[in-house]
Amino acid sequence: MSQTLPAAIPASVFERCADAIADAARELSAMGWTPATSSNFSMRVDAGHAAITVSGRHKGRLGRGDIMLIDLDGHAVGTDARPSAETALHTQIYRRWPEMNVVLHTHSRVQSVASRLFAADGVIRLQGWELQKAIAGYHTHESVLEIPVFPNTQHMPELVARVDAWLDAGKPLHAYLIDGHGIYTWGRDMAETQRHLEALEFLLGCELDLKRLRAS
Ligand SMILES: [Zn+2]
Repeated sequence: MSQTLPAAIPASVFERCADAIADAARELSAMGWTPATSSNFSMRVDAGHAAITVSGRHKGRLGRGDIMLIDLDGHAVGTDARPSAETALHTQIYRRWPEMNVVLHTHSRVQSVASRLFAADGVIRLQGWELQKAIAGYHTHESVLEIPVFPNTQHMPELVARVDAWLDAGKPLHAYLIDGHGIYTWGRDMAETQRHLEALEFLLGCELDLKRLRAS
């Protein structure tokens, strides 16, 4: 795949984003969170563009040629490659929050099982866990961290509308699960976003263990 960049975006800037995405994807893949070419990752390049994984590539083996440029309407820019099918969920974050620069979406087993278990409630309410403090803006285990669980669909505008509705209701949002599918989270930079993803994976795993132990 060849990627032509707009004159306003230096190659070094795009390459830095592509390399950061590929590095993170390799780590997440090694943890088993991106099975069978699933999952997608993006990073803001400038106010109007993001770098995102090309659809269908194995996330443990991404090179620069597996990352492409899109505008914030989700259109490919300077390439014939096809962006991830879920691109609209990434661009939604960048359009709503100018300070957010990275979006990570994975399909780990824990995320997938938790999404099914809590789908009927529509939300996972986390409280009392020290690791909630890993989420930006949370300073005590006593706070309540709500992770909504939205129904899965192959029709992205429906999911975009559900995320908008949650936000328009004035509720904080740092991540969401999609039923039977996986998790989306974001942050100001790659390190913060990876921290969010790791913390959420841990917290969801703890909630699953509690459910299991209480049932036995
Ligand atoms: Zn997905």
